[in-house]
Amino acid sequence: MEEMSNFIKTIMMNDLESKKVKSIVTRFPPEPNAYLHIGHARAIITNFELAENLGGKTNLRFDDTNPAKEDVEFVEAIKKDIEWLGYHPAKVLFGSDYFDETYELAIKLIKKGLAYVCDLTPEETSKYRGDFNTPGIESPYRNRSVEENLELFKNMRDGKYQEGEKVLRAKIDMASPNINMRDPVLYRILYINHHRTKDKWCIYPMYDFAHPIQDAIEGITHSLCSLEYDNHRPLYDWVVEQCEMPHVPQQIEFGRLNITNTIMSKRYLRELVNSKKVIGYDDPRMPTLVGLARRGYTPESIKSFVKASGLSRINSTIEGDMLEHFLREDLKLKTNRLMAIFDPLKVVITNYEEGKIEYLDAVNNTENEELGTRKIAFSRTIYIDRNDFVLEKPNKHYKRLALGLEVRLFYAYFIKANEVICDNEGNIVEVHCTYDPETKSGSGFNERKPNGTIQFVEATTALPATFNLFETLVIDNPEDHRSFLERLNPNSWTVKTGFIEGEKEHFSVLERFQFIRDGYYVVDKDSRDENLVFNRIVSLKSAIK
Ligand code: ATP
Ligand code: MG
Repeated sequence: MEEMSNFIKTIMMNDLESKKVKSIVTRFPPEPNAYLHIGHARAIITNFELAENLGGKTNLRFDDTNPAKEDVEFVEAIKKDIEWLGYHPAKVLFGSDYFDETYELAIKLIKKGLAYVCDLTPEETSKYRGDFNTPGIESPYRNRSVEENLELFKNMRDGKYQEGEKVLRAKIDMASPNINMRDPVLYRILYINHHRTKDKWCIYPMYDFAHPIQDAIEGITHSLCSLEYDNHRPLYDWVVEQCEMPHVPQQIEFGRLNITNTIMSKRYLRELVNSKKVIGYDDPRMPTLVGLARRGYTPESIKSFVKASGLSRINSTIEGDMLEHFLREDLKLKTNRLMAIFDPLKVVITNYEEGKIEYLDAVNNTENEELGTRKIAFSRTIYIDRNDFVLEKPNKHYKRLALGLEVRLFYAYFIKANEVICDNEGNIVEVHCTYDPETKSGSGFNERKPNGTIQFVEATTALPATFNLFETLVIDNPEDHRSFLERLNPNSWTVKTGFIEGEKEHFSVLERFQFIRDGYYVVDKDSRDENLVFNRIVSLKSAIK
């Protein structure tokens, strides 16, 4: 696969060359409060690939400094997602591993006169902070003595106050044009059991304080984050400098990845799951990595997509079509091509011997001989797709079966439709055809041109199967102002029941195929050999012409 190349790589290469850093160390820092989505893949791929390409390493660090929504379920899921993408963290660490050091560093700041305990309510704090046009007002608690602050902070830790009653704030600059520098909160009180430290702490550091400290302790050289942290960088640098961290990491921001018709924020994904609009985080329509995996997307296609989408200091919205393109590219040569019938129509070959079954040769992938060959059953009764038959040829572009016309069956014979049998309501239930034994496996193709080539399955050996077809969960529409839960695509999941050719005895979960003339499919996790379920990964051609 192609190496990644972008502005961050340039910075890293320069830093290596100028000996500013000895080797590259990056980290991916997810909050363990949800499943990862394809937007996170940009951050994961960027961190791991850049470090790997430059001989460095990458840690996985769970940013678990806010115990409110965190859970071990997510920790395990995130580890698996990263493995699925094919990356191996040098270390797996937790922000909470550094709670002791972080606490000591807060005390250091207090002693340096750079942090104070503040009693303003959260509402007052935000009022005092001002906004873009108004400078902040200093808190009346800002000038407490070092001794008083040390005692109050210890009391905070010892659980002597209610949540929200006191916070520890950095003493920086209430008039700074950057609001993040207006005495940001460093620690707050939370009486919540932490998934790892349990009830050891009732004060927890804020992201802006904890993150630079964690990066510095771990020796992270380049701390990559998305663009919204851009104006937090001065605070990041302030924390590293004032805490006198021996190692100085560098924060670099990049644009977030968005995809058309795809909702990516964790909060929305949680709402979809909680409101039961989807069957779980691994619903095949979800943009979560577990959802995409169940849908049959390959890690390779996601990597190619993320790399091709580029990386800059601008948030980007990429067409979902591009991801589908990379999927088709990846699956084209890797998958066996089987025949599936999604809407079966019975065809009786009236001049074929009753009770006989023959087995015809078929190649598994016409573009990749290495995938070998198989046998296809053929007999007097077969199924074709209802879509492949009409009574009368409607126009010259119609390349399928109609009364009086001849088509070729893949790997088998030419058949000609002579008659239809209808039920009482006039629905076609059977088509009677004759076959030409001279046209076996397409021979005779040069003498006369059939009206197209279609797939079939032999009726007595075919395996019943369920097919799940998907469209996007939401459709972008700037005119529609309803909440996204109200504008979900009603056709996002369609179920069809039909057959697939019956030669293969076992189908493993996540095994992928191309079903000829339709698309790429994967065996769903709920599939059993006696009850096959396939998810359509992507159609053969883009729906958008
Ligand atoms: P969300 O905003 O979707 O709820 P988050 O950014 O809060 O997600 P984190 O767990 O904090 O989720 O994310 C871990 C890392 O992944 C962060 O560095 C974040 O910048 C990055 N990341 C998350 N979403 C995207 C995205 N769409 N594009 C690029 N990077 C992303
Ligand atoms: Mg976040």
